[in-house]
Amino acid sequence: MHAKVVVVGSLNMDLIVRMPRFPVAGETLAGHGFATAAGGKGANQAVAAARLGAKVAMAGCVGDDSNGAELRAGLLAEGIDCSGVATVPGVATGIATILVDDAGQNAIVIAAGSNDEMTAERLADHDGLLEAADIVIAQLEVPMATVEATLLRAHELGRTVILNPAPAVGPLPENWYSLIDYLIPNESEAALLTGIAVDSPESALQAAQKLLANGARRVLITLGSQGVFYADGERHLHLPVEPVVAVDTTAAGDTFVGGFAAGLAEGMPLESAIRLGQRAAALAVTRPGAQPSIPHRHELPA
Ligand code: ADP
Repeated sequence: MHAKVVVVGSLNMDLIVRMPRFPVAGETLAGHGFATAAGGKGANQAVAAARLGAKVAMAGCVGDDSNGAELRAGLLAEGIDCSGVATVPGVATGIATILVDDAGQNAIVIAAGSNDEMTAERLADHDGLLEAADIVIAQLEVPMATVEATLLRAHELGRTVILNPAPAVGPLPENWYSLIDYLIPNESEAALLTGIAVDSPESALQAAQKLLANGARRVLITLGSQGVFYADGERHLHLPVEPVVAVDTTAAGDTFVGGFAAGLAEGMPLESAIRLGQRAAALAVTRPGAQPSIPHRHELPA
């Protein structure tokens, strides 16, 4: 199957518990309720690209448990090619336990589980997916060696390479920058990569200049309700958004990345692709959950 957008990354089941306050060590606390929702940065970005109109394939790993079966079925229902999603026997599917208190704060524990099994060797088994891709997207929720192999191979094949350096884990290896066509960090990730506190278009420009000096070709820094800051070697621009009241910002960045990629896959000019990602992300933050919050193209305001 020819896939335009290929996502190499994580699949997680989010386990969401609401509670009056966070428990302390040794305490048993009564919660208000429990819900599960499909998540994982890789799968979220794949779903966003698919719902926003792209043909998508995913490469990743689930375990041989009910969470893994449910996550795979969810992606298939979106029309996503899962031939690159392996089921690894004897391993638990990745989960994120998300505690939400009455003040709306959250505390998250991730157990990567099967995502750690997404090795560079497994990626090599699915080389056909990268060959058939036009755009390849990676994040940092699978082993760093796998991300590096993805960037190297996709760049070698001449594909458009997008890296969302999330979650914020530390500086990127220097040799990665020149392999990336679009580097898309949020404020805290941009700060971690550059040492510059990013909270405005002005500070985003400084951070972007540093990332370009490191070798990145194009940088998009997402600034939450302040929109997106774009820079390449020749120009820079701030694309603000109409702020909405956020209900749950989970997957805002993932929706932006997937929507932006869908726009590029359609052949949109850069600014239109950014606008598509922004319009989708603005709707996603008004809804709860990761994948459940990601809009379809027809839901976007004209
Ligand atoms: P992350 O989820 O990675 O922290 P951001 O918070 O930067 O990412 O959000 C990603 C994008 O989602 C932003 O660039 C913006 O387009 C959109 N967005 C986020 N919060 C809001 C908001 N309150 N109002 C409108 N758009 C928003």
